Amino acid sequence: MTNHRRLFIPGPSEVRTENLLAMATPQIGHRTEEFKQLYNQIQPNLQKLLYTSGPVFTVSSSAFGVMEGSVRNLCHKKCINFANGAFSKKWHSVTKACGIDCDLHEVEWGKAIKPEMVEDRLSTGEYDCMTFVLNETSTGVLGLIEELSEVWKNYPDVSVCVDAVSAMAGMKIEFEKLGVDVLIAGMQKCFGLPSGLTVCAVSEKALEKSKDAKAKGYYFDFQAFLKSHQKSNTPTTPAIPHLFALNAQLDYIINEEGLENRFARHAEMAEVVQDWAIDRGFSLFAEERKYASKTLTCIDNRTVKINVKQLNEDLRKYHAMISNGYGDLKEQTFRIAHMADTTLIDILGLLGVIDRILGF
Ligand SMILES: *Cc1c(COP(=O)(O)O)cnc(C)c1O
Repeated sequence: MTNHRRLFIPGPSEVRTENLLAMATPQIGHRTEEFKQLYNQIQPNLQKLLYTSGPVFTVSSSAFGVMEGSVRNLCHKKCINFANGAFSKKWHSVTKACGIDCDLHEVEWGKAIKPEMVEDRLSTGEYDCMTFVLNETSTGVLGLIEELSEVWKNYPDVSVCVDAVSAMAGMKIEFEKLGVDVLIAGMQKCFGLPSGLTVCAVSEKALEKSKDAKAKGYYFDFQAFLKSHQKSNTPTTPAIPHLFALNAQLDYIINEEGLENRFARHAEMAEVVQDWAIDRGFSLFAEERKYASKTLTCIDNRTVKINVKQLNEDLRKYHAMISNGYGDLKEQTFRIAHMADTTLIDILGLLGVIDRILGF
């Protein structure tokens, strides 16, 4: 473990030892009473986390599997993919790769998707499905989902698919209130668990609509998810070690830390990192501070121009790792994640070490 670098990258994030140990629980059969009990412990806590009374499926795949599944189940006519970064753009590629008729509405990276953009597109009546990434991990831009929901709520025939991969369990997302149809997140970001499992809340309306999907495939069929869910089970053999860890982590999040405390901790860390960056002469890559992510900060490096690759090399000595910019944004930006079970003490320690390395 001495070579372990503490991860301040936006996924995978650091996993607490208790959760790593939970994964080492002896295996149980997935068609047993013990499994049913495990499933029934997880389910109400997922519902509390997402403010929903409906099912929250646990799917043994990375998030993109369920992102693909959501458009296959819910787009019967044409899909509009809103994009302002790498992950949202990739969802468009995924939609196309499924042979689904779709359009891309892309804005400059660093900018947010705004209510008027959604209104412009949905009011055409062309679309019965939209995809939206709540927290663009490539740019550190957070969409203002409550404002956006006021628009899509006026278009009940449009299925709203939301990628909340780097936001869920780090900020409050009220599934039912927001009128979202599918809300997706993998484990390796704010949940603070290893990658390999995805959770998704699906609305009643979306479950109904998925019945008529023509080519939803086998693995991500929402009807199959529902049928198994009603028996506290999954259609195929699940990633049981991940479910043990998810159960332990949800118990910790809800009963030990508390949801409000967890969300407040993320917001406080975000504020501290944003202040630090601005104070050192950087700006935030997000167009305005109100769009800056609560779970990671993407810092614009085009004026100060530190050598990000070198900084990360230097951080190795301190057993820590941050993230360079995504793709073409390498060296133009860098990203510090403040998600999952990272604390303000950890973040202040990291920033102190960065100051020391850079001589700020
Ligand atoms: C990390 C991330 C993903 C990637 O999901 P995987 O399929 O688990 O690789 C998708 N969307 C966003 C916004 C992410 O941050």
